[in-house]
Amino acid sequence: MSGADARFDPSTLTHGGIDLTGVRALVAGLGISGLAAAGALLDRGATVTVVDGADTPAQRERAGSLPGARILCGPTAAGELPEGPAPDLVVTSPGWRPDNPLLVAAAAVGTPVWGEVELAWRLRPATGAAPWLTLTGTNGKTTTVGMLEAMLTAAGRRAVAAGNIGTPLLDAVLAEDPYDVIAVELSSFQLHWASSLSPLAAACLNIADDHTDWHGSAAAYAADKGRVYERAQVACVHNVQDPATEDLVRRADVVEGCRAVGITLGTPAVSMLGVVDDVLCDRAFVEQRDTSAAELATLRDVRLAGGGTLARHNIANALAAAALARAYGVPCTAVRDGLRGFVPGGHRIATVAEADGVRWVDDSKATNPHAADASLGAFDSVVWIAGGLAKGARFDDLVAAHAGRLRAVVLIGRDRRSLAESLARHASDIPVVDLDLTETGPTAVMDRVVRVAGDLARPGDTVLLAPACASMDMFDSYAHRGDAFAAAVRRLLGGDGIRDVGRGGGRATKG
Ligand code: ADP
Repeated sequence: MSGADARFDPSTLTHGGIDLTGVRALVAGLGISGLAAAGALLDRGATVTVVDGADTPAQRERAGSLPGARILCGPTAAGELPEGPAPDLVVTSPGWRPDNPLLVAAAAVGTPVWGEVELAWRLRPATGAAPWLTLTGTNGKTTTVGMLEAMLTAAGRRAVAAGNIGTPLLDAVLAEDPYDVIAVELSSFQLHWASSLSPLAAACLNIADDHTDWHGSAAAYAADKGRVYERAQVACVHNVQDPATEDLVRRADVVEGCRAVGITLGTPAVSMLGVVDDVLCDRAFVEQRDTSAAELATLRDVRLAGGGTLARHNIANALAAAALARAYGVPCTAVRDGLRGFVPGGHRIATVAEADGVRWVDDSKATNPHAADASLGAFDSVVWIAGGLAKGARFDDLVAAHAGRLRAVVLIGRDRRSLAESLARHASDIPVVDLDLTETGPTAVMDRVVRVAGDLARPGDTVLLAPACASMDMFDSYAHRGDAFAAAVRRLLGGDGIRDVGRGGGRATKG
């Protein structure tokens, strides 16, 4: 700041060495990113107030790690600007909706509202800052950013996956031992509050309706996803099978010379990565791309990266990760080695057991119809366990698309009626067992579910937990739901004939 009375000019915050003494910062939300933001601002001398709607002992304990910050907890604190001079800067948690009265009031008095991602971008070192490879999409973000991290690491680079995956970007940017490159997972919420990022390369995997309650409309959600491409320097990676992503690239303002690069499950045209026979090929980042393509990996490598399942959506994820890695300049062999070494996150098409010719698969992370669509598409004959909190989603298209592969369906959860109606409309000859167990504890629910599913399954079938719904009506989280399923399967099968073939389950991620 230039003088005691001058208002802080956010455009002056261009690197992490800048002294913020005298800047009044308000951090909205005391979660993982809020703690990181408040800590970074305090370290630079800012006067920091943190507000949070919850006032619990756990919150108070967290606040204790921020000596020097003023902490205001409770619903009132989170609904209005604190008394006194207006803050110079607000850093908001991605969970806060843009129509929160405090954020609206801040904007009304001309205070910039950033997310932790924007703050991290602005606190990068003045020289030699690690480039960002950014990635968004409705589904597949965590998987893809993990693949990308594995490819970068296989190339010998010091790389980390950060952002929506759980590690705050501030931690990655301000790490004592600096990273060479950062694989950045961004949610639509985080993108909404980011205004100056300039990634080396950016990708949007897919767009399907989600989170319209937060964004206000499907168009607003898509527009926030599209912000991932703004100011991209080398490549904007889009999904040829999802034209909405290409449309977002067309609308983006990018750095001169930045190229649009497509990923396709088919044969790649020039400036695309795609698949020829069983080989993943790069026809974008090779000099002779008019006439040739470089071999990156095989479908077998993608199967390994999928914990033993070769799902079409994981081919797309692998191609998107490869495109970002190649834009950064990693060799083809690192793409292959990264895929081979990648361990998928838990509850993402994880095979928990195989017995009597039936495979039991936990895809509890399929919390919306778009994800369940990808999941169902990976198997030929399925006993499908579905239901939970629909978040306003509709299931007609999903059921119509997969009726042919359904052996039977087991429905659970609060919004199962909506699924039952879609099944009646589009798959009326498929047996449906509607279990009204919303008041039953998680263990008993899953014991009942797997018993029913086991009776319905025939050799060659997959019993698939891909609920197309969120879990919080009956479980703490998607992970809790998946763990309860896996434990119930083990109890049902009693150890006989179980072959645990999943490689997933080890990685802790968000949610
Ligand atoms: P996100 O971080 O975006 O939630 P994840 O990698 O955690 O994505 O995967 C979430 C779920 O979405 C998985 O359980 C899987 O069923 C599904 N999925 C993964 N990749 C894709 C994709 N490219 N397209 C559609 N669905 C996908």
